[in-house]
Amino acid sequence: MGNIRRLCVYCGSSDAVDRQYRDAASELGACLASSGIGLVYGGGRVGLMGLLADAALAGGGAVTGIIPLRLRDAELAHSGISELLVVDGMHERKRVMAEKADAFAILPGGIGTLDETFEIVSWKQLGLHRKPILLVDIAGYWKPLLRVFDHLVAEGFARPQVPGLLQVVPTVAALMAALAVAPPPSPDMHPELL
Ligand code: AMP
Repeated sequence: MGNIRRLCVYCGSSDAVDRQYRDAASELGACLASSGIGLVYGGGRVGLMGLLADAALAGGGAVTGIIPLRLRDAELAHSGISELLVVDGMHERKRVMAEKADAFAILPGGIGTLDETFEIVSWKQLGLHRKPILLVDIAGYWKPLLRVFDHLVAEGFARPQVPGLLQVVPTVAALMAALAVAPPPSPDMHPELL
């Protein structure tokens, strides 16, 4: 077994997306369960999030969801997962998700996923954690985002090392292969700085 015991996954909450994205979420859930890697995610039952959690649970995997009270009360929480942590708000939620995981994977998603992605990369840039961040570029979905990173560097707003803070993998299989060889988790984050 590799060094990654729990993977935090950021992904879309929309159901109105192409089948290849939905299939990737289901594939990842099944792979995590069969690899014995616990899933940490936003706790929702909708969109790719729901498919991911359902597939992990169907394979006998451990699933931890972290959801703000308001989203839970809007009945957007997944009711069948192994552990649902209810927190006060979005900031606490993102901190708890990040603390509980040894690595992060980003599947296709929208504004919420981008918010989580930028935050976890920005925390890494500041040295608040050293955990692997893997961008899963299903069907080239993230190509425009990668161009934005290159643009930031070209215009001098980001250091050349910044794009290297995340590793781009093209498929779920490539993600699992990267997780299998990831180094042991580094010491804890620095919560006093968050
Ligand atoms: P989006 O990419 O805008 O669909 O937002 C998805 C991301 O934001 C997920 O990774 C979640 O952590 C969070 N999120 C957004 N909507 C929900 C929801 N209804 N339930 C739980 N988490 C959500």
